[in-house]
Amino acid sequence: MATFVPAARVDRIRESPSVAAAQRVRELKAQGREILDLTVGEPDFDTPDNIKSAAITAINTGQTKYTAVNGIPALREAIATRAASRTGIQYADNQITVGGGAKQVIFLALMATVEAGVEVIVPAPYWVSYPDMVLAHDGTPVIVQCEESDNFLLTPHALADAITPNTKWVILNAPGNPTGSVYTREQLQAIAEVIEANPHVSVLVDEIYDEINFGDAPITSLLEVAPHLRDQVLVTNGVSKSHAMTGWRLGYGLGNSGLIGAINKLQGQSSSCPSSISQAAAVEALTGDQSFLTESVRSYRLRRDLSTRLLGAVPGLEPVVPQGAFYLFVNCAALIGKQTPGGTVIESDQDLVLYLLDEASVATIQGSAYGASPYFRISFAASEAVLEKAAAQIAAAVERLS
Ligand code: PMP
Repeated sequence: MATFVPAARVDRIRESPSVAAAQRVRELKAQGREILDLTVGEPDFDTPDNIKSAAITAINTGQTKYTAVNGIPALREAIATRAASRTGIQYADNQITVGGGAKQVIFLALMATVEAGVEVIVPAPYWVSYPDMVLAHDGTPVIVQCEESDNFLLTPHALADAITPNTKWVILNAPGNPTGSVYTREQLQAIAEVIEANPHVSVLVDEIYDEINFGDAPITSLLEVAPHLRDQVLVTNGVSKSHAMTGWRLGYGLGNSGLIGAINKLQGQSSSCPSSISQAAAVEALTGDQSFLTESVRSYRLRRDLSTRLLGAVPGLEPVVPQGAFYLFVNCAALIGKQTPGGTVIESDQDLVLYLLDEASVATIQGSAYGASPYFRISFAASEAVLEKAAAQIAAAVERLS
C-alpha cells in the first residue's frame, strides 16, 4: 500500500483538544466507567420546536437544493436586521455571508487573508481553533498572554506592543471561550483607538456567545463604540450556541464587501453553500419566538452560580466568575506540586485533568489547551444534578492529594 504523505500544514496543526478529550471519554465509557463529561462545548438543551418545524417545512416544500453561495436572501436579511438592532450598523447584502458554522466562516476568512509571513494576534486564553487555523494557512499566530487580574482581557498596551507591520488580524472573542470574560465599553474604546492608529490591522470579532450573557445590560460590541472601523472589522456569529443548534452547522459573517466576496469565492469552491434546511431553520431562529433565549440563559446563570460556588469551596481551586458563555475556567495553581495517593506529583494542569478523570471520573480540559496554565475548563451546560455530583467527586479527589 502506498504511504500517505500529508501536506506540511497537516503536521503543523494539532488535533482539536476538545475532540481528543471527547475520544478519551468515549474510550473510558466503553470500558464500563461512568464518566461525568464536562468537556462538551455545546448547549444541553434540544433545539426549540419552532425551529425544528421550520426545518421540516423546508424539507416538505422542496427547499432541499443548493442555495446561493452566500445563503438565502431571507437569512441574510434576518442577519442584517439583527446586526442593525444590536449595533445600529446597516450591512448591505454583499457584506454578509453564511457558512457551515461560525467556525467555517472564520476558517475561510483566514484562508482569504493569511499566507506565509502574515501575523495574527491571538489573545490567550483562546478558543483552541484560532492558532491552528492560522497555522493551517501558513501564517504565524502571535499569542498575547492576558492576565487573570485583567479578567483575561486583551489590554490596549499589550495589543499595541504585539502589532508589527506584518500583523493582519487581531482576534477578539467575547464572551470568551474558555473564560466567559466580556469587554466593557471603555475597554473596547481603548482597543478601537489602537486599531484606528493601525489601519493595516483588522479585527475578527467572534460573538458566538453574545446571547449567553449574565449581565443586566446587553454585551457591548466593538462596532457600537467604533462604527467608523466597520471596514476593518469582521463580525462572526451563528445560531449554534444561542439556539442550541450546534449540529445544524450554521454561522455567518459581516464585514467589508471585499473580504466577504473573497470568502464567498472560497466557499463556492469548497462547500458550495451551507445546508438549505439549516438556513430555513436559522431564519426561524433569528426572527421567530425568542423565549428560548430568556429561559436558557436563566438556566445557565443558575448553573454558573452553582458550579462557581461548589468548585470555589474546594480548597486549592479558584474559579474565575464568567460573565457569559457556559464555561468555568478554574485556577488550580495551588494544586500544582501536590502528590496523588499513588505517589505521582501533579506537575501541570494536564496532570490534574488526568487525575480528575481517573480519580473523580470527571472529564475537564486542561488550561494549556487554551494557552493558559495552570487552569482547567468545565462546561456548565449540564444538569444541576451532574454539576453537583461532579463537584462532589472533584472535591473528594482533591482532598486525597497531599
Ligand atoms: N467561536 C468560539 C469561541 C467557539 O467556542 C465555537 C464553538 N466551539 C465557535 C466559534 C464555532 O461555532 P459554530 O458551531 O458556529 O461553528
